Amino acid sequence: MRALVISDIHGNLHALEAVLAAAPAHDVVWNLGDVVGYGARPNEVVEVLRTLITVDVRGNHDRVSTGLTSSQGFNPVAAEAAAWTKQALTQSNLEWLKAMPKGPVAVEENVVCAHGSPLHEDHYIMSMRDAWVPLQRMELGSIAFFGHTHVQGNFSLLESDWEEEHPRFEEREAAVQQRMELRPGTRHLINPGSVGQPRDHDWRAAFALYDDADVSVTYHRVPYDVEAAQAAIRAAKLPERLAARLGTGR
Ligand code: ZN
Repeated sequence: MRALVISDIHGNLHALEAVLAAAPAHDVVWNLGDVVGYGARPNEVVEVLRTLITVDVRGNHDRVSTGLTSSQGFNPVAAEAAAWTKQALTQSNLEWLKAMPKGPVAVEENVVCAHGSPLHEDHYIMSMRDAWVPLQRMELGSIAFFGHTHVQGNFSLLESDWEEEHPRFEEREAAVQQRMELRPGTRHLINPGSVGQPRDHDWRAAFALYDDADVSVTYHRVPYDVEAAQAAIRAAKLPERLAARLGTGR
């Protein structure tokens, strides 16, 4: 079974289409949330996801953009984008987003999908310090896919040996990939990166492919039409910062 793992699309249809076009053959799609918020194409992104065989987990932007929670705690740019998204969504797409389950959601034996952390949907796992407690609480040999930070990579624990890894790509423009074998008995927290608003200094759309037959994860980056995504944000009169940051991936 091969799963396409995507997260943090954030209403960026151009990036999502590039990911789906580049993705190797897969059986299911696991979507880790923040489908909308920031980007200018929330309805189109939801409509694409509704056609796929997905397991979905909601993100904080999905909650705020549908009115499930308030924008208190959001910075002004995020709050403005969430308010814009709420008025832009069709009733049907809004209902679909509202019904997304809270993570973690079990997708296979010893594999879960979460937005922030498997312990709390809004926690950020930025460093090994943040990863430590969730890793300790996981079963031996289990995997938790997570998003929320928009940074591709993994935190792993084998007995008392821990490791933080991020794929390193020399090539900065073309489509690239890096495969990682998951060692038996190791607990893994794995972030596929953000499809629609990467923040790891790489502008390309990020995703991962999980293969449970050879127990591997392959990290991918694919170029997409950033200028078209930026033009859509500007045309929607969303904050300029949201367009600008796509060009630099931060
Ligand atoms: Zn996000």
